[in-house]
Amino acid sequence: MTATEQEIQAKLTAAAHLIDMNDIVREGYPTLREVATEVDFPLSQEDIILGEKMMEFLRNSQDPVMAEKLGLRGGVGLAANQLGLTKRVIAVLVPNDPEVDEEGNEVAPAEAYKMQEIMYNAKVVSHSVQDAALEVGEGCLSVDREIPGFVVRHARVTVEYQDKNGEKKKIRLKGFESMCVQHEIDHTNGVMFYDHINAENPWAIQDGMLVIK
Ligand SMILES: [Zn+2]
Repeated sequence: MTATEQEIQAKLTAAAHLIDMNDIVREGYPTLREVATEVDFPLSQEDIILGEKMMEFLRNSQDPVMAEKLGLRGGVGLAANQLGLTKRVIAVLVPNDPEVDEEGNEVAPAEAYKMQEIMYNAKVVSHSVQDAALEVGEGCLSVDREIPGFVVRHARVTVEYQDKNGEKKKIRLKGFESMCVQHEIDHTNGVMFYDHINAENPWAIQDGMLVIK
């Protein structure tokens, strides 16, 4: 880690600091195109707090009151590369859809999140032959412009990572969560979502490709 990265991490993990849009680097910043390094275990206190602060950002970004107060764009995932740090740390927070009550009103789901994970050293260890893409395309907190087109990814992936205690986990993902985690792991490899869009025909559906609503 460079001296600059040490300074950045010290700032991000200070007790009173809340990560906001000013901490997120945008296109053109070098770490977005760099391959991040694995973190060592046992984790330093700073690396534990970094993961927790990243998750706190996602929670705030999805909370209408906090998002407005802090001026946050809503996000479901964040990678350390997006904070100027070349460390393999990602956070993913996927909310559940609202439930509908007897009167047909949308109410908060019993479980707020369908995926909530701080992942260290995450990597895709196997994947389906079938590809998939989100129907609406993708966006990124580090990209301040709309880039339309199918972001073609693996439909299903098996991901290995470590939690903050160093415990090795292996999970299988499909659907939206699969797309989201692949987007974040890509960041740790210096890959941006639009690298997966067909430049000539952005909305082309290849044979067998799953379109996720
Ligand atoms: Zn992104």
